[in-house]
Amino acid sequence: MGRFASTPGLILVGMLAACTGSRRPPVLWIVLDTVSAGHLALYGGRARMPAVEAFARDALVFESAWSNFPETQFSHWSMFTGVMPEAHGNIPAFGTSGHVGPTVAELLGGRAWATAAFIGGATLDGASSGLDRGFDHYDDEDLMAPPLLARPALDVSTRARDWIAGAKRPWFVFAHFFDAHFPYMPSNPGLYDPRPRSRLDGTHQSLAPYRDFGAPMDPVDLAHIVALYDAEITEMDRHVGDLLARLRGDEIVILTADHGESFEHGYLFNHRAVLYDSVLHVPLIIKAPGVEPGRARERVELLDLYPTLLTLLDLSVETPLDGRSLLEKDPGRPGRFRLAPLPEGERRFYSRTDPWLEGALLGLRTDEWKLIWNGDALTAFDLRLDPEELRPAEAPAALLDGPRDYAGKLGLHAPFTRPLPPRRPPADRPPPDPRAQDTRLLEQLGYVERPSPQPAP
Ligand SMILES: [Zn+2]
Repeated sequence: MGRFASTPGLILVGMLAACTGSRRPPVLWIVLDTVSAGHLALYGGRARMPAVEAFARDALVFESAWSNFPETQFSHWSMFTGVMPEAHGNIPAFGTSGHVGPTVAELLGGRAWATAAFIGGATLDGASSGLDRGFDHYDDEDLMAPPLLARPALDVSTRARDWIAGAKRPWFVFAHFFDAHFPYMPSNPGLYDPRPRSRLDGTHQSLAPYRDFGAPMDPVDLAHIVALYDAEITEMDRHVGDLLARLRGDEIVILTADHGESFEHGYLFNHRAVLYDSVLHVPLIIKAPGVEPGRARERVELLDLYPTLLTLLDLSVETPLDGRSLLEKDPGRPGRFRLAPLPEGERRFYSRTDPWLEGALLGLRTDEWKLIWNGDALTAFDLRLDPEELRPAEAPAALLDGPRDYAGKLGLHAPFTRPLPPRRPPADRPPPDPRAQDTRLLEQLGYVERPSPQPAP
């Protein structure tokens, strides 16, 4: 943290990034699945990522970036469409979406970018997630074959680098690193806990009794498991770095996480069922031609990435987007960008758990307040007095219209949503029972079966 100047608002330090003037730069979009910003040394935490930290020195680091959906498929679909989950309509394990707007892969593929994805975890298997839509090459080979379910960072990085080496420019690559996701099994368990006093390890078998809202956990055990998680993050770094090291410097690079991980509030080793800051605060680093390095403190959300990419590439889409561009052209300096000013008034940030499950939560966050609705029940936290979200407070009247406001935003998308097409069987294997193998595998990673493809009321 101390490497950067730090004052409120936008801070710009360092040299201008090289600006090539090209409107068709390659795009590398890296997602570190399940990495909470607060655990990273880059954000004041413990887990070192030397290669990512070095990369960040020449990039724009957003200190306050928030996931809208603490679940892998929802979050990726929202990142890659720029709209909220009820609008993109993707349902985990159904592998399809009713959204008519282009995904990033469709947007760039339609303009002659070569597109490829390198997937690290089975939750983004193309057949079950549908995220392969628009990609020329979607590398999820063998991910759903037990017992693998995940691909280590070395493999993701190597595959992505090999593909880039042979690709015609411009290209768009999505690299999905899954190593920090449960279970927590670093190769060096003692990295951040050299003399562990816990007998637990980070396996599914060891942690199953405590996972989600399970049995209470001894603080010594919990500290050890958090150390394993942090070690996984650090061990992933060199492979992310190997990928970054192959770049020429004229690419657009977005590095972020789809959501964080919960080690508190009685909800352990998962992320998808709560809307506390620990599962929503994610790292976000953008490096692009014409974008000055520095640190920005404005609160931004993952929904903003799609419109930001449009700005950087000077493109537009006809369908409505829920985010806003974080950058704008600098009128005084052709080919360069500056942070876009925040909209007038207090900005609301919405988050959501799976809207297709009963008991779905809706979260509304401002700089000062967090409100969480569970149906008609409302819990509010005054973040100025209670940043750990432990003591419910009386919600301010001005924010009580959250559910109505959110529903109004969704209504804007209705003309751009088509009925969900049937679930697609994988092309290269026999049609599976849609609730059998794929779903069981997803459940092992903490995902559950969807009761029906209709949003919960
Ligand atoms: Zn995820």
